[in-house]
Amino acid sequence: MKNKIHNYDFLVIGAGLIGSLTAVCLLKNKYKVLVIDKNEQFLNDKRTLAVNANSKDFLTKLGIWNKLKANPEPINKIEIYDTINKFPLIFENTNEEMGNVIFNSDLLVEAKQLLLKKNLLIEGINIEISKIKSNEKIKIENKNYLFKKIILCLGKNYENEDTIKKFSFPSLHKSYVGFFDHSVVHNQIAYEIFTPEGPLAVLPAPSKSKKTSTFIFSTQNKISRTNIQKLIKNYFSKTHGLINLKKKIYEYKILPHLSKEKFNQFILIGDILRSIHPVAGQGWNLGIKDIQTFISLLNQYEIDDPNLLADYYKHRSIESFTYLTFTSLINKIYENQNPLNNAIIKSGFCILRKSSFLKKTFIKQAMGRLNLI
Ligand SMILES: Cc1cc2nc3c(=O)[nH]c(=O)nc-3n(C[C@H](O)[C@H](O)[C@H](O)COP(=O)(O)OP(=O)(O)OC[C@H]3O[C@@H](n4cnc5c(N)ncnc54)[C@H](O)[C@@H]3O)c2cc1C
Repeated sequence: MKNKIHNYDFLVIGAGLIGSLTAVCLLKNKYKVLVIDKNEQFLNDKRTLAVNANSKDFLTKLGIWNKLKANPEPINKIEIYDTINKFPLIFENTNEEMGNVIFNSDLLVEAKQLLLKKNLLIEGINIEISKIKSNEKIKIENKNYLFKKIILCLGKNYENEDTIKKFSFPSLHKSYVGFFDHSVVHNQIAYEIFTPEGPLAVLPAPSKSKKTSTFIFSTQNKISRTNIQKLIKNYFSKTHGLINLKKKIYEYKILPHLSKEKFNQFILIGDILRSIHPVAGQGWNLGIKDIQTFISLLNQYEIDDPNLLADYYKHRSIESFTYLTFTSLINKIYENQNPLNNAIIKSGFCILRKSSFLKKTFIKQAMGRLNLI
């Protein structure tokens, strides 16, 4: 029995927000999958996710959407302000909500529970990734396994030059995330303000009272809690009334990059493939599109067909590159304000305000309803 080999279709390494869902999705599609993570628990993520319409459909199909502990908070309108344009850019969609805000940890708990129930998740396992291969024996907790394919969902921090080549887009920004209560209801509106210090996003947070919001402020400067409070009061007292910032503020690194796998061995999904600045609130939504693309290609190719990987990377490259350059560029332009950059920003606002076609396209893209390839 000691030499018994356990045959699986997929090994997913990394059980974060994308790895867990990749595995649940593969399972629903009748593949045999095992998930491992080097960490025992990863449920202390205090952030929220702005889930776009496409990702909501994805979670609904997996049976997870209706099980989330806190009710998702809809976003019906997005208002974008800066210090250059007199009037905001407003995006609204009347057919369906543009997105929903949920807690990261609620989602992770549900996805992990589905895997744990079927004994498909093993935590606390750290294997040397550059030494493993598909269709070769891999030892995990004293058992021998063979996997037809290995999927890496290791997040943006993973560095290993033996396995992947990373193209980084340096950013000096750090993100500060927290919550605040307010005396006036948020009206399901999300805001993005390009302040002189960096972009400040304020989103309705899941709450029955509709009087709690979450913020994500990205800046190169070190900023104190008092100054964040001042900033939020300055921009949001008019719309949100009396503001009471919650005690804890969390800091997150920003590591925008694109990665390429070196030896046609692994499938990269989620932040390990591409990580973008959170200004667009789309990083995880793009990871969901990675999963959807991969699953749909599995209908065309056998698991070990080399064209599967090639086609997957081809399909995901344009959208990844577009989002990475768009989010990096927009920050650079706002950071370096000069007459040329100001003119670019003004004309961008003006074109989007005047062209209902462009506006609709922008909304569809943000909702995940448009495919760039
Ligand atoms: C401030 C902030 C706000 C954001 N807001 C939004 C938003 O509103 N909407 C949106 O779409 N996106 C948002 N994002 C992006 C989103 O958080 C990420 O895209 C998403 O978390 C990526 O998930 P992942 O599973 O790829 O990586 P992670 O969640 O980082 O998971 C990686 C997993 O891999 C494991 N791991 C790492 N190395 C190893 C190893 N060697 N062996 C085994 N396991 C390993 C880790 O333990 C972890 O569990 C935001 C990001 C930030 C920073």
